[in-house]
Order: sequence, then structure tokens, then C-alpha cells
Amino acid sequence: MAHANSFANTVIRARGLWKVYGAGGTELRALCDVNLEIRSGQLTLLMGPSGSGKTTLLSILGCILRASSGNLELLGQEVTALPERDLPRLRRDLIGFVFQGFNLFPALTAVENVALALDLRGVAARPARRRAEQLLVEVGLKDRMHAFPGDLSGGQKQRVAIARALAGDPPILLADEPTAALDSTSGRTVIDLLQRLAHQHARAVVMVTHDPRVLSYGDRILHLEDGRLVREQLPGRDLSLSTPFAPATAAQFSELVPGEF
Ligand code: ADP
Ligand code: MG
Repeated sequence: MAHANSFANTVIRARGLWKVYGAGGTELRALCDVNLEIRSGQLTLLMGPSGSGKTTLLSILGCILRASSGNLELLGQEVTALPERDLPRLRRDLIGFVFQGFNLFPALTAVENVALALDLRGVAARPARRRAEQLLVEVGLKDRMHAFPGDLSGGQKQRVAIARALAGDPPILLADEPTAALDSTSGRTVIDLLQRLAHQHARAVVMVTHDPRVLSYGDRILHLEDGRLVREQLPGRDLSLSTPFAPATAAQFSELVPGEF
């Protein structure tokens, strides 16, 4: 992997990001002067109440939405000024996306869903199939490869979606509330997997969540309120000893001063 040696490097740098929806009298400021750096080898959690701008920010970081102003660099490359036609290539090479609703094709098996993503990248059928199988083994679905989405649990579907997001071996993995529709056990397998993908493969993984059960898994926790990054938490030292997936309280975290991240 080209990015395997870039452990703990800054892969996303945002400066003064604003997003304004609408115009005239109906303007809505969804993001206000967001500054952040996201590093590889870490699971970064992006938290905040509904409507605080989490999806907007994740979409901008993933180049599926453009900021109204500000600068965004992905792996040292300035992307804000790029023309629209350059963005699909950037997304294909750098970004893997995971959504709350899985977005799998119901008529395709797990392995076919993943192979399709490789097919769309121009990988020939046989190697695509082999690679899809490897990816499903990696996410712990060796025994469910030939199942259709309708026969998989929510957690299994989300793991198929993660395998699909990994098809292009992206250095950045973005997940928007991937555990929101899952029970505790499934949620834990999904967050365990996202954490492992960050730690073992030196990926930058950013997960949007408002699920307090996942707090203890984050290497960093960024809080968004009304479109502003208001603070960052780092898990306290004692946290690794606490029960995984247990609700964490603010007291378990050492809080940092608000401001620039
Ligand atoms: P979150 O993911 O934290 O719930 P969003 O990023 O989806 O927040 O939304 C932030 C704010 O921007 C909300 O007030 C929402 O209603 C508004 N918003 C989101 N998408 C659009 C859009 N396409 N057009 C207009 N307003 C939008
Ligand atoms: Mg959202």
C-alpha cells in the first residue's frame, strides 16, 4: 500500500471552511469557519446534535459537496480550487464512503456487491472476485460471502458496505453514522472494524456519530455545534480499561481547550 508508511501523517487539512445553503432570505449557515486536521492511523469521531453540520462536513471532506469558501487539502493536494471534472478521480483514489443505510444492491450477493465496486474501477472479473473475497474475509464475513443483503443482519450488511468502501484501498475512510441503525452487538463489531482499519492499515478513518456508546473507541473526538467545531476530547488514560461500548461520561475524558484543531 502506497500510504502504509504515512502513519500519523496529516491527510486532511481544512482551513476556514464555510458552507451556506440557499441564497437571499433563506440562507442557512451549515458550517462556520471550520479548521481541522485529520491524521492517518487514527479513528476520529465527529460528534454533534442533529443538524449541527456533521454530514455537510463529511461530504465536503469527501469531495461530494463543495464548500462555499475555505481551503481543503487531501494528502497535501489543494482540492478547493479543482474543477468539478477532477473530483470523481480524487474520490475514487482517496476516499471510501460508508453510509448509515448500507446502500447495497439487494439482487447481488455480498461478494458481488463488493466485486461490482472493483469492476467499476476497471478491475477484470476474476481478480475482482478474488479481491472481493479477500475484503470480505478481512471484515469477518468469510462465511456469508454468497448471502444476499436481505439475508444478512444489519451489522453484516454494514461490514459488506465497509468492504466495498475499501475496494480502491483508499487512504481515507469516511463513515456517516454507520452504527445508527444497529443494535449494540452489531454496532460494536462495526466500530471495532473501523478502529482496526485505522490502526492496522494506517488509514485515516472519520466516523460521524451521535452514539455515546462508541466514544471510547475514538482516538480523537471532535464536537460540532451549530456548524462550528467547539471542542476536542482525547480519551483519558483509564478509558482502555473500561468496558468496551459502555456509555462513556464526559468525566472520563480529558478535555482540551476549544479553538483550532
Ligand atoms: P447533521 O448531519 O449534523 O444532522 P447536516 O449537515 O445534515 O447536519 O445539516 C446541517 C444543517 O444544514 C441543517 O440545518 C440542515 O437542515 C441543513 N441542510 C443540510 N443539507 C441541506 C441542503 N441540501 N439544503 C439546505 N439545507 C441543508
Ligand atoms: Mg447527518
